[in-house]
Amino acid sequence: MRLDYLTIFPDYLAPLRLSLPGKAVESGLLDLHVHDLRQWTRDRHHTTDDTPYGGGAGMVMKPEPFGEAFDELLGPVPEEVAQQPSRRATVVFTTPSGEPMTQRLAEELATRERIVFACGRYEGIDQRVIDHAREIAEVREISLGDYVLNGGEVAALAITEAVVRLLPGFMGNAASIVEESHSESGLLEHPVYTKPREWRGREVPEVLLSGDHGRIAAWRHDQSVRRTAERRPDLLAPSVLDDGGEIVRAVPADAAELLVLQRACWAQEALANDSLAIPALHESYDDVRTALAEWDTYVVRRAGRLVAAVRGRLDGTAWDIGRMMVAPDLQGTGLGRRLLAHIQAVAPAGASSYVLFTGVRSERNIRLYKRAGFRPRVELPAPPGAIVLTKPRRG
Ligand code: SAM
Repeated sequence: MRLDYLTIFPDYLAPLRLSLPGKAVESGLLDLHVHDLRQWTRDRHHTTDDTPYGGGAGMVMKPEPFGEAFDELLGPVPEEVAQQPSRRATVVFTTPSGEPMTQRLAEELATRERIVFACGRYEGIDQRVIDHAREIAEVREISLGDYVLNGGEVAALAITEAVVRLLPGFMGNAASIVEESHSESGLLEHPVYTKPREWRGREVPEVLLSGDHGRIAAWRHDQSVRRTAERRPDLLAPSVLDDGGEIVRAVPADAAELLVLQRACWAQEALANDSLAIPALHESYDDVRTALAEWDTYVVRRAGRLVAAVRGRLDGTAWDIGRMMVAPDLQGTGLGRRLLAHIQAVAPAGASSYVLFTGVRSERNIRLYKRAGFRPRVELPAPPGAIVLTKPRRG
């Protein structure tokens, strides 16, 4: 990947030569070029800014130096490249009015072969530079966040670091980027610990010393979900329903209502499948309370009433989904579909597939699961009168 930086403060970008990016340059994975924009000025004072048309405070970066820099760096676009937009270089303008920088955007930019960063200063860059760049390259206007920096260099550094660490061969241990905050699960990372085992009276959580990979994965996932719910509930996007209601984690106090809803829903299942031998129908209040501690359970309330629930649990590498229930009067309103999407979205990074089962004659459920990408697996063992459905995890 080749990266170019246009800036009036080239020294600001010296950290690009440090640490991992520096190593990637040495190994040939990255080709970095920092350019002083002033080399494309023609006056004695190397002027790169001027007063704004229309008046107002501050200065605006002039178009000519950027234009000449693009001419030299990107040159005339060959005809075959012009015909294939995907082969064009990408020009990133760092600006607080751009699209927010996210992990998804970093993943997208990591697929590019050539990125030119245009670092703004003062009040920003003459708009015609951006309009012109769109004719010769893919343009992305990117913001680091909802605050204003003095210049685009810090933003260019941050974007570079987020992008290049995703390049194959960049990280010594590729697995370390799979289970991070903002990775596919959309959750924040769980707390991490290292030696010593006890430090200033504080112990490492016992589960991490157990050697039990299943328990460790479950604990980490639980911590991730809690942390995300506390610090960044906005990341649990699928939990917000169209009517403004929310899918939230169940608490022990939900057990009594869950039991009532479960009995109502599985009475329907019993009728549809002509069988009373359905475990969900026979569980006690204590069973439901115990299950709440063992599964990640989510519930939906409407006007205070518990109307829907679903749960998930890691079983090896499969995310076991179960007890999906919607109050009879709200069935067919899309709640089940949203719950199913939610429980898949919160599956831990270690899950490579989803698995669930339902009654062989529960046609409505089977239709819903099939529409969500699940496939019946008659060859897999299932409880009597039930059928297993599975779905591989995307990516
Ligand atoms: N007048 C501009 C505005 O209100 O949008 C802010 C200009 S800022 C003082 C100067 C330069 O810093 C911008 O052109 C941009 O390159 C960079 N910059 C400032 N805040 C940024 C942010 N949140 N994300 C990315 N770049 C930023």
